Amino acid sequence: MAFKVIRGDITTMKVDAIVNAANTTLLGSGGVDGAIHRAAGPELLAACRLLHGCQTGEAKITPGFKLPAKFVIHTPGPIWRGGHQHEAELLHNSYQNSLNLADQNHCVSVAFPSISTGVYRFPLQAGAKIAVTTIREFLKTAQSVKDVTMVCFDEGTYQAYLEVQK
Ligand code: ADP
Repeated sequence: MAFKVIRGDITTMKVDAIVNAANTTLLGSGGVDGAIHRAAGPELLAACRLLHGCQTGEAKITPGFKLPAKFVIHTPGPIWRGGHQHEAELLHNSYQNSLNLADQNHCVSVAFPSISTGVYRFPLQAGAKIAVTTIREFLKTAQSVKDVTMVCFDEGTYQAYLEVQK
């Protein structure tokens, strides 16, 4: 089992599943969500329409269509509202439920973006800590998932994850 942190663009990852930091409609938006929909092609939006949304912290799966990844796991992370609206627990749930779904679908390799730390404003260092802790704990008992990569798009995010994973 292995966990690693890299700097890059998640839409280029040749893994079994990439995770999308979606919103609850699952109908696309900006940021990593927009990039994934552009790279996967319009079939992804059509597949997402059939899912009828997703609650914060839950996760749903679709094919990857034109992406190099086999699947996309869509999870709406929490919007940061000051920290007293269960944001930390919900962010943990987003990682945990995404990993469970990857495992149930026999995925070996999974790539994550930094969920909620963009437009949703979850504090970066705290968000990185939750991501790394949840992934490491999960890998101890995973059935199928063996390789998890955190794909950091910008330098600040990359540095925060390098610091937290020490
Ligand atoms: P959220 O709404 O969950 O905060 P965002 O898409 O705004 O989601 O940001 C989440 C993280 O995804 C940010 O660190 C942002 O820099 C990053 N990101 C944006 N595009 C990509 C991409 N193509 N690959 C990986 N990460 C990306």
